[in-house]
Amino acid sequence: MKTAIINPKIQGLQPSATLAINERSHRLISQGKDIFKLGLGQSPFPVPMPVQDALRRHAGEKDYLAVQGLASLRTDIAAWHHERHGIAGDLTNIMIGPGSKELLFLLQLVHDSILTIPAPSWVSYEPQAQIIGKRVEWLETSPDSGWRLDPEVLENACAKDPNTRRFLILNYPNNPTGLTYDSTQLQALATVARKYGILVVSDEIYGEVNHRGNHVSMAQFYPEGTIITSGLSKWCGAGGWRLGYCHIPSSLESIRAAMCAIASETFTSVSAPIQHAARAAFGHDPSIEIYLTNSRRILSSLGGWLAHTLRAENVRLDDPEGGFYVLPDFGGLSEALAHRGITTSPDLVETILLETGVAFLPGTCFGRPASELTARISYVDFDGDSALKSIEGTPANTEIGIDFLSQICGPTVEAINRLRDWCQKLS
Ligand code: PMP
Repeated sequence: MKTAIINPKIQGLQPSATLAINERSHRLISQGKDIFKLGLGQSPFPVPMPVQDALRRHAGEKDYLAVQGLASLRTDIAAWHHERHGIAGDLTNIMIGPGSKELLFLLQLVHDSILTIPAPSWVSYEPQAQIIGKRVEWLETSPDSGWRLDPEVLENACAKDPNTRRFLILNYPNNPTGLTYDSTQLQALATVARKYGILVVSDEIYGEVNHRGNHVSMAQFYPEGTIITSGLSKWCGAGGWRLGYCHIPSSLESIRAAMCAIASETFTSVSAPIQHAARAAFGHDPSIEIYLTNSRRILSSLGGWLAHTLRAENVRLDDPEGGFYVLPDFGGLSEALAHRGITTSPDLVETILLETGVAFLPGTCFGRPASELTARISYVDFDGDSALKSIEGTPANTEIGIDFLSQICGPTVEAINRLRDWCQKLS
């Protein structure tokens, strides 16, 4: 056999940074090291019981399902979006796929355009464009405005080059920043998107993990040009179930048709038992609402404590508003870090991993410059099942204090304390 020749578009492509840091953490743990896994962004919470029960009941489902997905599930999802956000649509507007990551890839593939993304953005958008051969346009953001895309920056990029078709991915609550957009901010972006006919892909995979439970969608302001992607991975603790979906407005029917054609030649359809079971997640089981309320309470209290703790060490970051990430900027410590020979974010996270056992990712993985000293912390290294059980019965709407957090989110609290101590020792 001759050496395999790799397609030049794929050459140099490495496994996704989030998966790589997870594997590295596991290797270090197997060598007996004490490692805190703040690298991978996986929900710490279990799949809610009604959804698990539904999967047991449907274990016998064995037939291939329709390429676009199980009709009853698509009806449930469309109704859910209509009830929550007033978004028009029915089962014809929903497509089910094996995780929203795959659907995001197919969307990029079928749409003839350039990919426009704010810096920072989630790790996989750019490599997906690279695989397809799509040009990427990064738009600058600033920590002063919560790393959000400024409508003026979008306007300027479009005005320079108005004939280019753009595929803009907006993700909120955001990975890696933990921040989100409100109605006014989305409205302002929608005005620019409409003016230039931009296709907006609204990655709302963390929508239900908005810590206040008040997520709003771009599709409310720009319905004709917005495709929502979401799924069960983050709010329903079911990353490994691989069920994602997109909501495609009727005005973009040709995109849906092209997606289905490709799906029919590649993955065919998502596992039948999983699709049947997913219906339970979009039903109205009160225990799921309680599960969501308590998940949000834990994440917002932990995120708020963490941000407060690191800010006291001259690390810049905002309190997270949703999801389970923060993007601290260690630039305020740059002099002390430079004394230790640390001048880039990859150096920073490598040194911290070796000296404290805390594993997390440099800002470079998300499109930030190496010299900036930003890094993403995923604050979910704890047993979510027992954390949820512990706060059941505690009064709702009460902030959870650090003593209780230390009991229920022990490894993450310990990791942040180690990070704090490490910063203190620098000076
Ligand atoms: N978008 C963002 C911003 C994510 O963080 C993730 C998962 N890490 C995904 C999409 C993909 O999620 P899934 O494929 O599990 O639906």
